[in-house]
Amino acid sequence: MIKRLYDFFQKSQVVTTDSRQCPSGSLFFALRGENFDGNRYAASALEKGCSLAVVDDVELSGKPGMFYVEDVLVALQQLANHHRRVLGLPIIGITGSNGKTTTKELVASVLSMKYKVYYTQGNLNNHIGVPLTLLSMNKHTQIGVVEMGANHPGEIAELCRIAEPDFGVITNVGKAHIEGFGSFEGVRQTKGELYDFIRATNGTLFVNADDDMLMKMSDHLTRVTYGVNDNAAEVQGRNMDVNPFLLFQFRSGVNANWHDVQSKMVGKYNISNFLVAAAIGQFFQVDDIEVAWALSSYVPENNRSQLINGVHNRVLMDAYNANPSSMQVALENFKDIRHPFKVAIIGAMKELGHISDEEHKKVVRYLLGGAFHLVCLVGEEFETVEIESNMAHRFAKVDDLVAWLKDHPLKDAFVLVKGSRGNKLEQALPYLQ
Ligand code: ATP
Ligand code: MG
Repeated sequence: MIKRLYDFFQKSQVVTTDSRQCPSGSLFFALRGENFDGNRYAASALEKGCSLAVVDDVELSGKPGMFYVEDVLVALQQLANHHRRVLGLPIIGITGSNGKTTTKELVASVLSMKYKVYYTQGNLNNHIGVPLTLLSMNKHTQIGVVEMGANHPGEIAELCRIAEPDFGVITNVGKAHIEGFGSFEGVRQTKGELYDFIRATNGTLFVNADDDMLMKMSDHLTRVTYGVNDNAAEVQGRNMDVNPFLLFQFRSGVNANWHDVQSKMVGKYNISNFLVAAAIGQFFQVDDIEVAWALSSYVPENNRSQLINGVHNRVLMDAYNANPSSMQVALENFKDIRHPFKVAIIGAMKELGHISDEEHKKVVRYLLGGAFHLVCLVGEEFETVEIESNMAHRFAKVDDLVAWLKDHPLKDAFVLVKGSRGNKLEQALPYLQ
């Protein structure tokens, strides 16, 4: 069945799962979601220009233009895997609790200096996004870089079976999506499924030598290491500073020259994302000077650690997502930035399940530790935390924060905005600049 479907795919080369976007000749995959059934849009996808609709509603079976399969999602995944095998190109799989997208983009920037690279667009990192990513590669693609996300055990193993990565990166293991994983150990095991796959297929890992847990998990595996604290690491970093952009040096081996990177990203914690990109560049024989250039020129998108220079204030916008690990490093980084009036606008961290209360308490304790001059907390999760300080203000929703900012406009401040996406903190941005 997959071979037959692959013949169609080879003719069209384009796949869509959205009946509103049907490029002429493309294959439409009628996926089912919680609130929709793609089968209902199959006919209209054909009318709009798709050459074939892959469906799993038996009533559509045998109708013109319809390709009936038992399960459309499985067919999409199998097709992607088949395509990946036919192309036979090196695939780098990237997972981790924080920094996957940033790392994926840095890796792609570095490798693009020498190769034709296809990499995950945006955040298409799940059981649908990964197959779509693979199906977007073609015979000209020389290296594929695939972001893999998970919020349940077993998901990374499944994505590995589809993408069959030859190379693996776990950016880090943190306290994210505890609701779905049950515990930190659950997170570790799920991320570790990438290492398990690489072990079973004799692939190569890129491992952060500064992370004891990842080093232990990858012991006895073929690996290339990188880090700032380990002189034995294959790629080393040093001299980090935030002013507020991350500045550092790296070298590929003890005898190599140091190279400067003046990045366009904020956040000391990004150092490991930069160094793994350098390590991968070195492995694939991209010249160090070109690596340094690619890393220095990368500009982040999507409210991910972006610096905005407003008329009245400087804003470090990092409200793309948050969990205890990324919150902690964001606050540590903000603490190191030198400025006389630092304001932290912090949204609640979602999906934490039973550790939520305790983690929000920890954040408040850190915020009130003396490094910041004004603190605004947004979200009901902060309501149960006891606060004895007149420098902290609590808001149930972003609208309440906006109303307060209208009455109390900030001036000459350096503002950090960090929180889970659900808080919609970006709505406060116009009132902060
Ligand atoms: P998602 O799960 O939404 O796909 P992601 O893993 O792709 O997230 P990014 O989008 O790259 O992660 O970064 C999200 C946020 O994580 C950043 O804005 C930053 O605050 C934080 N972050 C990035 N890199 C690291 C890191 N190495 N360690 C800790 N936190 C990090
Ligand atoms: Mg991502």
